[in-house]
Amino acid sequence: MSDSAIDIASLNTAQREAVLSTEGPLLVLAGAGSGKTRVLTYRIAHMVADLGVRPWQILAITFTNKAAAEMRERIQALMDGGMRGMWVCTFHAMCVRILREDADLIGYTGQFTIYDDDDSRRLVRDIMAGAGIEQKQFPINMIRSKISAAKNAMICPEEFSAQASTPPEQKAAKVYLELERRLRAANAMDFDDLLVRTLELLRARPEVLANYQERFRYISVDEYQDTNHVQYEIANLLAAKYENLMVVGDDDQSIYSWRGADIANILDFEKDFPHARVVKLEQNYRSCGNILAAANAVVRNNAQRKEKRLFTDAGDGERIRAYQASDERDEGRWIASEIDRLNDSGASYEDIAVFYRTNAQSRILEDMFLRAGVPYRIVGGTRFFDRAEIRDTMAYLKMVVNPADEMSVKRVINTPRRGLGSTSIAKIEQIAIENRCSFFQACEIAMAETGRLSAKVRSALADFVQIVHEGRRMDGELVRVVEAIIDRSGLIRAHHNEMTVEGEGRVENIREFMGVAAEFEETHEDIEGTLESLAELRAAGVSGVPASDAGVSVRGPHAVAEDASAPSAQVSPSDRAAEIEDAYGPLACKALPALMEWLALRSDLDALAGGTHAITMMTVHSAKGLEFPIVFVAGLEEGIFPHVNGFSDDPAKLEEERRLAYVAITRARRRLFLSYAATRRTYGSTQANPRSRFVSEIPDETISFSGIGSSGFSGTGWEKRGDRRGTFGSGMGSEMYGGRVFGSRTRSTGGSDAVRRGSISPDAGLKPALGTSRAEASENA
Ligand code: ATP
Ligand code: MG
Repeated sequence: MSDSAIDIASLNTAQREAVLSTEGPLLVLAGAGSGKTRVLTYRIAHMVADLGVRPWQILAITFTNKAAAEMRERIQALMDGGMRGMWVCTFHAMCVRILREDADLIGYTGQFTIYDDDDSRRLVRDIMAGAGIEQKQFPINMIRSKISAAKNAMICPEEFSAQASTPPEQKAAKVYLELERRLRAANAMDFDDLLVRTLELLRARPEVLANYQERFRYISVDEYQDTNHVQYEIANLLAAKYENLMVVGDDDQSIYSWRGADIANILDFEKDFPHARVVKLEQNYRSCGNILAAANAVVRNNAQRKEKRLFTDAGDGERIRAYQASDERDEGRWIASEIDRLNDSGASYEDIAVFYRTNAQSRILEDMFLRAGVPYRIVGGTRFFDRAEIRDTMAYLKMVVNPADEMSVKRVINTPRRGLGSTSIAKIEQIAIENRCSFFQACEIAMAETGRLSAKVRSALADFVQIVHEGRRMDGELVRVVEAIIDRSGLIRAHHNEMTVEGEGRVENIREFMGVAAEFEETHEDIEGTLESLAELRAAGVSGVPASDAGVSVRGPHAVAEDASAPSAQVSPSDRAAEIEDAYGPLACKALPALMEWLALRSDLDALAGGTHAITMMTVHSAKGLEFPIVFVAGLEEGIFPHVNGFSDDPAKLEEERRLAYVAITRARRRLFLSYAATRRTYGSTQANPRSRFVSEIPDETISFSGIGSSGFSGTGWEKRGDRRGTFGSGMGSEMYGGRVFGSRTRSTGGSDAVRRGSISPDAGLKPALGTSRAEASENA
């Protein structure tokens, strides 16, 4: 095709066939890195540049905003002409555009509001409160996920009501009915609605459908294996007239079945379109031989798959390296030191990615990178200490240490829900003003005073206040004290009762926090070293270091009502402690304030933002479709990856875990590093899990192992070898990492990075594209 305006010669035969098959249904089914996305973009460029297809006749759908932006760039780079009118977007963004035009036909106006996850949660909460549905009994997330499932199955509230048999379903049905009414009254749609209403519109209004069918002569969908049923229906409807539908995917990379993505969509494409052309791509251009051989060998152990061939012309490359760490901290140190070595030998930080199975695993890695001075950014997740459940947990501990800390008390007074709503809080605030006392003291007054608050509220308040008094009396090992306070708070129980994947993720994170306390207990002699380092940084004028006192915001018990956000007064910690003790009684566990101080310092360090040169950290789920020259996969242990849920009950789940491993391995272009720990402290207790079966499935000739000790960090870690000051700052930094003491972190703000809305940390690393594309949907709207 030398007469093509684009470089079709750079494609292999199968790729070229796909690019040139512009008419009729086309399925490109191929393994990772075989150029599926490349084919999709070349094909579009070819249609516009060579065949005179108008850009506005083209619709290209992909999975995340980031992928959509990349796709747009790639198409643009291929052609001279403009792309005006071409839709290159996510399903959600497409639906918003369609609905903006014609929402009036289904009872909305075009100016409808999009409720993001937070808005929609608040609305459900209101409805439940109004209907007297107890959140303790029927957790909001459980209710919401039932409603969401019903919506995506296109079951209307009336139908859902009629089917509801169990009490939770009946409550959900009641909420669903009211939610629907309220959303309509508010002219608002939530993220599920965007998809479902679009489908409804297209089905109900043949003239609208005909319009889009006529307009979008050429439709392409990337990552088709992860579309859910509603998305599948929309794509098929839009393509029904011209049948120029190209879908691209890899059944081995289907990793979202847990949230409704249906692998059958891709496997049934040939049934939906019996005359579809099917192109298989077999050459992998991404990875070198050893990496590809490993990926193929692993995924071959799945029974439920279409056998595919995938080869590479690239040489074997270097062997995969596997490292058995003594524990999770040793693992983090090994990764950090390898990154350092790679960086010294010329690899840039941007070329490096670190993957893990669950979000909770990022914390130790973050910690080690901070110490080693490895700059990093986290994609598709929230930093551990920013997660709502971790902030809640810390608020309880801060409150016990300092009951006058109004922000902390208010944060958790009704988290988990204990019937202390905004009306009660307003009344307590009033009492604080009248008595010129702290909010917490006002709670104690309100609890004792009859008249203002109902007996029920007063009893809930008494129970809440007790947490502080009990907490202050608790003595013993720090971890046990922390555990007892968290237990007493009811946080874990509440998240557990949500009975959702997200809720379990939050429980895991809170347990992980207990690990933080345990770790602190072992190493807290280092605090002073850290203080010095921070002071040194400030003295040296390092930008980004806060000028204020870096301690916890421990405030005088009576100062709070005036200015809750004022920086702590310049009093010594012991003075402050004495003042608080006078008001609230002695704090038995002396290590607790030290822990809070240590944590506060840590977030100070977090605030030191670095440049844009950083490695990328993310869960395997967020890595889909991406590629990096150098990839680390951490935590390859049974129970972690495959995740514990992955093999407990259901072989299908184990196969999904294995597909996830396949996705992880195939992101790597040149180098792949795998690691696992002989023991791992998760949730405050130490477990010894065997090496992941996925590592064992990798052929011997492609991998080399190094064991405990070969990184130079033998035994239980260097802290135990006399260098106790090094834990956070100068010691280790200067010795092991050439003097760079502090890591830097950048928080991505664009693209698909981070679930910025909603309830954060959607789960234990099962980071839903739902979260991502939901956030993105509203972003694009
Ligand atoms: P995934 O399944 O991970 O989404 P994919 O099949 O979409 O992978 P691409 O991302 O399109 O694969 O391609 C993988 C890499 O191989 C990219 O860097 C791409 O530019 C390169 N590549 C694909 N085809 C060719 C080719 N014919 N010649 C040179 N490089 C190619
Ligand atoms: Mg791709």
